[in-house]
Amino acid sequence: MGNGSIRSLIGLLITLIPDLTEGNNPVLYNNNIIKIKLGGDGQQVGRYNHHVMLIAYILNEKDKVLSPKYQYCICLYPGTEKYESLTIAHNQIIEELTTLYNNGFTNENNNHWKIEFWFTGDWKYMALVLGINGPMSNYFCLRCDYYKNERWDTSKSWSNIENTKGKVRTSLLPFLTPKYCISDELHLMLRIVDVLLKCFFLELMRDALAFDITTPQENISTREKIEITMQEIGITTFKFIPPEKKTKTAKWSWHTLMGPAKLKIIEKFPVSKFIIDQRGKDIENLWKDFYYLYCTMRRENLTEEDIIQFSQDACKWVKEFARPTKKTKTGKIEQEGLYQRTDVTPYMHILAFHIPLFMQELLQQNLCIEKKNHKHVRLFFGGITMGGGTEQTAAYQINNFENQQIYFRINKTSTSYSEKVLTAFDKINE
Ligand SMILES: [Zn+2]
Repeated sequence: MGNGSIRSLIGLLITLIPDLTEGNNPVLYNNNIIKIKLGGDGQQVGRYNHHVMLIAYILNEKDKVLSPKYQYCICLYPGTEKYESLTIAHNQIIEELTTLYNNGFTNENNNHWKIEFWFTGDWKYMALVLGINGPMSNYFCLRCDYYKNERWDTSKSWSNIENTKGKVRTSLLPFLTPKYCISDELHLMLRIVDVLLKCFFLELMRDALAFDITTPQENISTREKIEITMQEIGITTFKFIPPEKKTKTAKWSWHTLMGPAKLKIIEKFPVSKFIIDQRGKDIENLWKDFYYLYCTMRRENLTEEDIIQFSQDACKWVKEFARPTKKTKTGKIEQEGLYQRTDVTPYMHILAFHIPLFMQELLQQNLCIEKKNHKHVRLFFGGITMGGGTEQTAAYQINNFENQQIYFRINKTSTSYSEKVLTAFDKINE
């Protein structure tokens, strides 16, 4: 398969089961259900290299799956995140997955385990794999029949079952029911923060020339003031990029920010220093409230009550984001609106409607949401030319690295790799 690589999931289970079942308090008892979460996304690595990557986690390992050491790359395929490349990648593994799904796993001592598959990923990737229209289409949702022009409306209630109207292709994981598909809360956070930042910057750039002009009062332009404020809250990489021609309407763009930086901005950035009066305060609160929602999503040991509270808060948040202007009968404005209903994105719909239900499901299953996967990909892709010359391909190196990790694990050798892997996290862009 060219420069791609696959790892047999059955082979992996054969290797890992002795380790998972040993000891007084084993991860797996005989007859337990082995819960395997499949995750993936397509990512661009460097400027030209695209890979589609599928990862398996054994959820029974609980918190351990948070560490990349316990995340196994079962398929790495060069290609972009398109249905065609995904189909090729999935064809390599689907037979094995279907067998495991139908028959479970039996080891050499004739012990049997049922297998349950879960699926996660960023939205675009999940939609492609499940054969559903992407986030921009009319019926966009992975889990319900929500129509896109109603996405701001938090008064409706939707069952958390299935999108029956936006299905365009056969699912590449046909045995999966939607109940087992959970979207990745990290991508959700990143995309929602993107919207908040965009709304904020574009508001300040309504007159793009004024945005860059030094004001006599402060002796500094709004643009510079934002950059300096970013520095002050610890975001050292933030810079605006000038438009090609500086005109009143040509907008400045800004450097892409990494996940941790985005979180820090919504937690700490003093919006009210840039937008005066109540509006500035309200937007600042909106950012902070989203930060707290995200923190709750990531918290461990949530109770039923916490989740109900989260659900109410998330709905309130979307409502506040798209709050309309309130006027009295005489036309006097009582409360200014914040943003437009059309600014509400599909991700906000997921936040308010489905995340609470995902949380419920995870709680019932006693599972935790794993932290970001793919940390190790960056470790290898940094500065590697792939697929050419005599160099080993990244796919080969990753599998080789994982083989070592698995070897260390089953032979109880301590490794010094984990730290190296974790430091890679800070460099992750998404
Ligand atoms: Zn939905």
